[in-house]
Amino acid sequence: MPSTSSARRSARRRHRVLIVGGGTAGITVAARLRRAGVTDVAVLEPASTHWYQPLWTLVGGGQAPLDITRRPEASVMPRRVCWIREAAASVDPEARTVTTTEHRTIGYDHLVMAPGLQLDWDAVPGLDTAVGHGAVSSNYSFAHAPYTWELIRGLRSGTAVFTQPTGPVKCGGAPQKIAYLAADHWRRQGVLDRIRVVLVLPADSMFAVPVWRRALERVADRYGIEVRLNSEMTSVDGAARRLTVANHSTGDEETRGFDLLHAVPPQSAPDWVKHSPLADPTSPYGYVEVDKYTLQHPRHRNVFALGDVANLPTSKTGAAVRKQAPVVVANLLAEIEADPKGERRDLCRYDGYTSCPLVTARDRMLLAEFDYDLRPAPSIPLVDTTEERRDMWLLKRYGLPALYWHGMLKGLAWKAG
Ligand SMILES: Cc1cc2nc3c(=O)[nH]c(=O)nc-3n(C[C@H](O)[C@H](O)[C@H](O)COP(=O)(O)OP(=O)(O)OC[C@H]3O[C@@H](n4cnc5c(N)ncnc54)[C@H](O)[C@@H]3O)c2cc1C
Repeated sequence: MPSTSSARRSARRRHRVLIVGGGTAGITVAARLRRAGVTDVAVLEPASTHWYQPLWTLVGGGQAPLDITRRPEASVMPRRVCWIREAAASVDPEARTVTTTEHRTIGYDHLVMAPGLQLDWDAVPGLDTAVGHGAVSSNYSFAHAPYTWELIRGLRSGTAVFTQPTGPVKCGGAPQKIAYLAADHWRRQGVLDRIRVVLVLPADSMFAVPVWRRALERVADRYGIEVRLNSEMTSVDGAARRLTVANHSTGDEETRGFDLLHAVPPQSAPDWVKHSPLADPTSPYGYVEVDKYTLQHPRHRNVFALGDVANLPTSKTGAAVRKQAPVVVANLLAEIEADPKGERRDLCRYDGYTSCPLVTARDRMLLAEFDYDLRPAPSIPLVDTTEERRDMWLLKRYGLPALYWHGMLKGLAWKAG
């Protein structure tokens, strides 16, 4: 006889809409579904803390305390949404079930995949053991972001290296932003000319969109930053303070010492997503296959994905989620309301909008907003966001977090375009 608790665990549950992940995307979709009057929405989310990750760059740059980037998950969970405090371990889209790490099987009519991505610290030999102490940090983890600032503040001379790995990462600008914040700090302290600042980037230019690429080249020049394009860190020895950088265009490898390293780990879909039938076979990183406009899975019409886990040819940001969530909700409603013959209204389309607030100094920022075609897509009228501006920095530090906690996570504002 199974015990009462294991019997309860194995009892199947079914929900009209099951959302996997209660981060930026999951909570935004849940809140919008509730506002649209959809009942029986469940969120599968194991964490007790919800993080506002975009501020981690400012935490690492000494401009914001870590505390203001976190809130209890319970405080952001929309009312009348069922919160299942477990982690998904597998999904069976034919059976329409998700199984959790606690071996509970949960049925769904419609599924929204929003579990984010995983940080592959062990994909660069030495990084996993080096990060968080010695001279190595990373703003990509809340546990290390405050340490980045400790290292920056403590450095008076030597070599500082900032790296970005090959492949999509959350907020493609974040690996650069911290280099500019550090250089600005050292300039104000009068020590910048004693510090060699090296920025290692995998792409063949500093930014995909020409207008912001040119602006960033000027910023790097201003600080005297050595930019290594087509390059990436291939190993690190934290104890010896040495790292190896490969140049993919020449095939050269160079090993150099450092006194400060800010490393961004390679990133990919969570392993269980990679190995699921929902993964895009064309994605080397295992992200979920979706139509890039409707955000619907091509073979399972009752499955949608958004946020970092979706295989979309645009930069993975919270700002992108802001535009994706209304599209997912509108298209989910169209599926729910489809008549018995499967006829449904036209689906809404996401245009690839993403935005990267490129902090370039303690009090300056460029705001890069663009779509799938890399066309600038400004959302603030009459403001030239291709110039470094103080008002944009204020927006990032104070405006966007307020909009996030009080607007986006409450399912307010932004209609499907
Ligand atoms: C340093 C840094 C700087 C950034 N800067 C910016 C910026 O300036 N502007 C911007 O717009 N964006 C920025 N971002 C990116 C932004 O934070 C992400 O794109 C956004 O959070 C993605 O939302 P998401 O819901 O897909 O993932 P997340 O917000 O990461 O949420 C994923 C959720 O899924 C949960 N989960 C994980 N595994 C499971 C599982 N097995 N089962 C159930 N739940 C699970 C997690 O606990 C988490 O709550 C930055 C990110 C970082 C790290």
